[in-house]
Amino acid sequence: MFSPTATEISVGLSAAAGLGLVAGDCAYAAMWPTSQLFGPTLIAPPRPDELALTFDDGPNPVWTPHLLDLLASHDVRATFFLVGSRAQSMPTLVRQIIAAGHLIGNHSWSHPNLALSSARRIDEELSRTHQILAQIAGAPPRYFRPPYGARRPEVLRIARRLGLVPVLWNAMTSDWKNPSADAIASQLTHKIDRLHRQGHAANIVLHDGSHADPAANRAPSIAAAAQLIAL
Ligand SMILES: [Zn+2]
Repeated sequence: MFSPTATEISVGLSAAAGLGLVAGDCAYAAMWPTSQLFGPTLIAPPRPDELALTFDDGPNPVWTPHLLDLLASHDVRATFFLVGSRAQSMPTLVRQIIAAGHLIGNHSWSHPNLALSSARRIDEELSRTHQILAQIAGAPPRYFRPPYGARRPEVLRIARRLGLVPVLWNAMTSDWKNPSADAIASQLTHKIDRLHRQGHAANIVLHDGSHADPAANRAPSIAAAAQLIAL
């Protein structure tokens, strides 16, 4: 796994400045999941037969246990990018995720757009989540996914300072908008097939929680995960 240094990130920033990025380029660099202009992020290696299932915005007291049952029944491991404030209120569920052999990662404390947040806010969001996850898990997390994929150089600098590897994705649909499980699964399958043809692993995002609405229905996302695992 690569481990870019702070020097590489600052070089990336200098390069971006040197290129004279205009607003559209900056929006691309800040929000497009596979952009590396604001610094290196982990997405997927050139190993087309590998799939990573990642689940964001949990833990959720209703849907995360369903998902854990599904994954256990197929002996599949996944990565859960957890919202710190939710993790704090559900430490037992977080421990169940870890005990089942899954990875947990930092998904900020309250899910703001970090590209639009002050350096102080970014630090608070990441550090507070880092501390609570370390306290619950007994060891600090190693991975961080910025909410909405939004970042700027300061976000990546603070993540690195905490020893976190920023992780984006290359296969996502709007599963949080609650389409049917069939629609989610078929769109993801299409993307996975395309990545496979291009020689890339798939880093797949689904949502087992909602940062905005703890009562959001995630049944379609979990059912889509079941379809993908069956495939
Ligand atoms: Zn999220």
